[in-house]
Amino acid sequence: MKQSRTPRRLAMKQLASMAAMGVLATLRSGPALASAAIGRIYGTRIPGVQGKVISKQDSNYELWRQAMVWHHSKPQRYPELIVQVQSVEEVVAAVKYAANNKLKVALRAGGHNSTGTAVRNGGMVIDLSALRDVRIDTSKQTASIQPGVRSLQLTRAAEAKGLSFPVPHCPSVGVSGFTLGGGIGLNYAQHGGMATHSIIGAEVVTAEGKLVTVNANENPDLFWAVRGAGPGFFGVVTRLHLQLYPLPKAIMTSSYIVPLDELEIVTSNLQKIRKENDVSRVELLAVLTEHPEAPPEVPPEESKICFFTAFAYEDSVAEARALLEPFARSDLAAKSAVKDEFVEFSMEELYDKYFSLRDPAGRQGRYKVDNVLTNDGSGVLHALADHFRNNAPTKDCHILASYNMNIEHQEDSCFSWVADCYVGCYVIWDKEEEDGVNYDWLSKTLPLMDPFAIGHYPNEVEPRHTDRYRKCYSDEDWRRLEQLRNKYDPSGLFHHYLTQVEARGV
Ligand SMILES: Cc1cc2nc3c(=O)[nH]c(=O)nc-3n(C[C@H](O)[C@H](O)[C@H](O)COP(=O)(O)OP(=O)(O)OC[C@H]3O[C@@H](n4cnc5c(N)ncnc54)[C@H](O)[C@@H]3O)c2cc1C
Repeated sequence: MKQSRTPRRLAMKQLASMAAMGVLATLRSGPALASAAIGRIYGTRIPGVQGKVISKQDSNYELWRQAMVWHHSKPQRYPELIVQVQSVEEVVAAVKYAANNKLKVALRAGGHNSTGTAVRNGGMVIDLSALRDVRIDTSKQTASIQPGVRSLQLTRAAEAKGLSFPVPHCPSVGVSGFTLGGGIGLNYAQHGGMATHSIIGAEVVTAEGKLVTVNANENPDLFWAVRGAGPGFFGVVTRLHLQLYPLPKAIMTSSYIVPLDELEIVTSNLQKIRKENDVSRVELLAVLTEHPEAPPEVPPEESKICFFTAFAYEDSVAEARALLEPFARSDLAAKSAVKDEFVEFSMEELYDKYFSLRDPAGRQGRYKVDNVLTNDGSGVLHALADHFRNNAPTKDCHILASYNMNIEHQEDSCFSWVADCYVGCYVIWDKEEEDGVNYDWLSKTLPLMDPFAIGHYPNEVEPRHTDRYRKCYSDEDWRRLEQLRNKYDPSGLFHHYLTQVEARGV
């Protein structure tokens, strides 16, 4: 710890001056890393790599290290080298160099992982964010994407061809990390809950430095692992082949707000509506949050709400409207403090209205999250409600329940769990001195929500909590993942899932 303090302070000074120059935004945007002119020659050379190679000795090391992670909870972990590859050949060269020099490898794509898994102690980070090619095959309704592609880029490319993908809800999230670890995307209810099941193939650089094709017929065991292993996958995915879907012609939402004390109105009506109508195609999100316009004099425990939205993605306005009618006819609509019904959107407009980077969901502060996958999402919300009302440490702290996951178990995917609902508890704050209170609040959600868990979702767990990654997989799937890791990466070149000790930074 002591060792890191001085460089950290120096880095803060650098960050402050670079922010003033407007450079920081460019760095955060990731893909610009490879082309940013920094005006110095770096010491380390990797044969076959033209992209930047930044070592611990370089004066801008701390700046680059921090830029590997999008949010502000920068891990206290220090890799030896950061390598910004510009092609698949450079990925191969970097992997071979790491193997020959006994450097463990971690990977960074969109950099959004809440635990900052791209940044590990020692070894090499391969930054894939400059690889941003997207190809759409309209006749096959597929996309082939490189790992630096973000949510918004894929949405736009697919939409231009009349197609769509269940992309991350926030525009800047990397499609690669999101999809490899599961991926609860826009319109998840109609696409099997998890975007990982829409992976139809991949190109993977193995620990041996070999580029292999992975699909249901070629290397099927790697195909199984690619579809769900997420931040513990033992290879570099240089291309994902994705199934696309027809672009919905009508996207419509109905939102309802009730005070948190009346959460029962949301959950009981939701249960009734789902029992009496087929709304299984509708994305249903209930968010416990602080009222964004609560006057400052209102104490935080009195300004909490449940913000419920039903999202219909259909071929016509009439069909979308029909799916949302049961909500409009329900007691939920009658008793809501505020409602906004039958509002039409384009895919891209959804980012702005519901998941923009200005809103709690996408705000760039210090950031942690943990979750359960459950068949009793409403039970979890009620179990968490008091803890949220009375103890939520910041205004942006929120709890999100996504119903109608419609996950199907697939033999050729290591995503283990079939559950109706995902519930995530998010803490977002600004000041380092508030880390403790935020971690503490999140830790206390576990005994409240875990009794309802079927399992956990690997892209949004906090490994400071015991065994969290392990519990993202069934015993059988975990054993098979370990066997495949031994087969494809016998010397442990790629970092394993982040451990509790590493996550705590001790
Ligand atoms: C603002 C925000 C919004 C989000 N919205 C959603 C959402 O709507 N739905 C949802 O399900 N999740 C969401 N997430 C969580 C998101 O899925 C994870 O954070 C995911 O890990 C992000 O992927 P990335 O590529 O951006 O991250 P990175 O931090 O770059 O990647 C995380 C890890 O994944 C592995 N990885 C990534 N790419 C590769 C590759 N090409 N080859 C091998 N391994 C790789 C590596 O181990 C890497 O360290 C959100 C997160 C944030 C911060």
